[in-house]
Amino acid sequence: MYVPHYSVALAASSYAPRAPLWALLTGAFLPDLVWIVLARAGVEPADAVHFFDDWSHSLLSTIVLATIFALLFWRRGRAAVLALWLVVFSHFVLDFPVHPKRIAAYPLARPHLGSDAWIAWGSRHGWLGWDNDWWLQLFVLLFFLAIYAVGARRQLPGKVVAASCVALIGLQLITLAPCVGY
Ligand SMILES: [Zn+2]
Repeated sequence: MYVPHYSVALAASSYAPRAPLWALLTGAFLPDLVWIVLARAGVEPADAVHFFDDWSHSLLSTIVLATIFALLFWRRGRAAVLALWLVVFSHFVLDFPVHPKRIAAYPLARPHLGSDAWIAWGSRHGWLGWDNDWWLQLFVLLFFLAIYAVGARRQLPGKVVAASCVALIGLQLITLAPCVGY
């Protein structure tokens, strides 16, 4: 999952104004940023056969990342620290149902969480021939954008709120390209 992570960051920004927006956006994507670095270093191969992302995406790793990252902002107050922790941890919750492989509870764990049948369902074509995963991501995106829009209504001009929603929905539509074979 990619684009919906940003909608969680936007939603949090409208309820935790003391948490910097850049930090919320970075935090929401943090496990993927770690994954990009580890994949480049060859520690977490991204190819389908050797796919491995326990260090960046396991439940324990996400909790550790969320805690370290959120505590960097302790001067901003408890509400900001909690918002940042939840935003980083939300990465695990959002990835869980649409991940290419089952996620580990902790790095190098034998049992992985979730079910292979669910992962298979996600990659099946759904309505309009687009993957079930894509529809699930769109649903999550719209859900958090609605929370953002309600919260941001009183703080930001309507145009800004609308533009950020349209931009994220547009990005989600772009991710359709591999689904439809472009
Ligand atoms: Zn991820």
